Amino acid sequence: MVKPSGEELERLALEMIRSSGDDGILQSDLWRRLGLDSREGSRLVLRLAKKGLIKREQVVVNGRRTYKIRYTTPPTLELRVLVSLDDVISIPCFTCPYLGQCGPGNFNDPRTCPLLERWLQRRLQALSAGDGRRLRDSVPAGAARHS
Ligand code: SF4
Repeated sequence: MVKPSGEELERLALEMIRSSGDDGILQSDLWRRLGLDSREGSRLVLRLAKKGLIKREQVVVNGRRTYKIRYTTPPTLELRVLVSLDDVISIPCFTCPYLGQCGPGNFNDPRTCPLLERWLQRRLQALSAGDGRRLRDSVPAGAARHS
């Protein structure tokens, strides 16, 4: 039988560790089931631990110290963006009479619109001042490029 290597080996090990549930699995059992010697097995387990995918707990079995390995749920990244309705309402496009005709390459073009640019500049200033959520844009609603 060809011994899996690299990512495939990690995937197999993780499956075994995960399927062992809360009880975990002794590292020597894991190595044996994967057909690894202690050197290869130690490296694999340390790699997984370094990635934060498993936890190792020292235990004593038959008078010998070893490790019990458990799967850890990968940390999730929670990103929260606070958006105030006031901020959204202040975007000049929402009240612009030219919204329907506005687009790249048109006479009213968001890339060159002075109202949108001014709003963005104020927004940036407010964000860099740490007061982004309290920004009130004083751009008059409906005012757009007219010439
Ligand atoms: S003209 Fe300016 S304010 Fe009006 S919709 Fe286009 S980008 Fe927005």
